[in-house]
Amino acid sequence: MADDHLRRALADDGVDLVLADNPSPMTLEGTNSYILRSRDGASALLLDPGPMLVEHRDALVRTVGSAELTAIVLTHRHGDHSGLLETAGQWAPGVPVHAVDPTFASGATPLVDGERIAFGTHDADVLTIVTTPGHTDDSVSAVHGSRLFAGDTVLGRGTTMVSFPDGSLGDYLDSLERLTALEAAGAVTTIAPAHGEQREDVRDLLAHYLSHRRERISQVQDVLASGRTTAEEVADVVYADVPDSVKPAALQIVRSQLAYIESLEG
Ligand SMILES: [Zn+2]
Repeated sequence: MADDHLRRALADDGVDLVLADNPSPMTLEGTNSYILRSRDGASALLLDPGPMLVEHRDALVRTVGSAELTAIVLTHRHGDHSGLLETAGQWAPGVPVHAVDPTFASGATPLVDGERIAFGTHDADVLTIVTTPGHTDDSVSAVHGSRLFAGDTVLGRGTTMVSFPDGSLGDYLDSLERLTALEAAGAVTTIAPAHGEQREDVRDLLAHYLSHRRERISQVQDVLASGRTTAEEVADVVYADVPDSVKPAALQIVRSQLAYIESLEG
């Protein structure tokens, strides 16, 4: 299985994946929390604590083990990533939390693009932030080695949603272009998403994401041209085939599409 090989590659690079038990149509199998270990094993960084689940918290603490947790990094504010931060004072006292949203950042200034977060003494013990707004306005990805931790910007399968009004489709397309450029420059060869499996077909995956979005935008433009104007009317046509459980997400995506199309015309 390709996925086994990619999971082994994660472990070989000192990264543990701890899957939270919060499966849903939006979170796939659940949230992937990642623990990055320093080369000497003495310290670790936690990327996305995950949802407020006691079992997940215990699994994280167990996985960090005797290493010193030196940093927590949040890819974005959604509760399935940030929930456990609420009790971080108990299970990770004093550990700085790095996040774009100042509501979540603590013991550290809000994250900025290009920021490097060291979690050990070796040169390789560094996570570099790439701001990738779109899914939400506070979304970041992060690069360690040539692996991109993509948060919800790119998922292991299917496509992600652009939250509205928190996210922006224009920003999202720009972020996908930016990740595409990183791949083209050789800086990224694998993607570790916050939901779903590891991917190493990075170029194809990003190209698919971009073409899917552009296809949807032109579909929406066609539907608008046919005289339907409200988000509900557009969603009924463009997302006619999605299951009821995903309908609210589809409606949000349509709202972001309408805002984007309006910005093009404006
Ligand atoms: Zn999210």
